[in-house]
Amino acid sequence: MKIARETLQFILEVCRSSAPKEFAGMLSAKGDVITEVIVVPGTESTDESAVMQLFMLPNIHTVGSVHSHPSGNTRPSGIDLDLFDRKGVVHMIVGAPFDLKSWKCYDTNGRPLNLEVVDYDFKDEDEFFEDIMNS
Ligand SMILES: [Zn+2]
Repeated sequence: MKIARETLQFILEVCRSSAPKEFAGMLSAKGDVITEVIVVPGTESTDESAVMQLFMLPNIHTVGSVHSHPSGNTRPSGIDLDLFDRKGVVHMIVGAPFDLKSWKCYDTNGRPLNLEVVDYDFKDEDEFFEDIMNS
């Protein structure tokens, strides 16, 4: 599994602008490259947690989840591990200060996973960025 550089940068930005609240979303991929972040409608975000209403998830295939830890601790909590186990195979936790070195990726069991950052050609696929910015 890999992640597009632009998608990662977008995630870091959203996490930064959500702080001190948590940001949470689901990840969607093209082939083996994660290219999209899907914000789940009805997500309740506080400074302690972002609870995703997974039943509200649009009917899109997702490969995993992403959420931020404004505390800066990128270790998954017990609640996180429950989520990892339930949905998807790749789970990112982005800690403060939300830069390229402050995120980690885990598998369904909460074991560290290596996620390669790659350059991905989005071509005409810019719409989802606009959708998220407008929502
Ligand atoms: Zn967490």
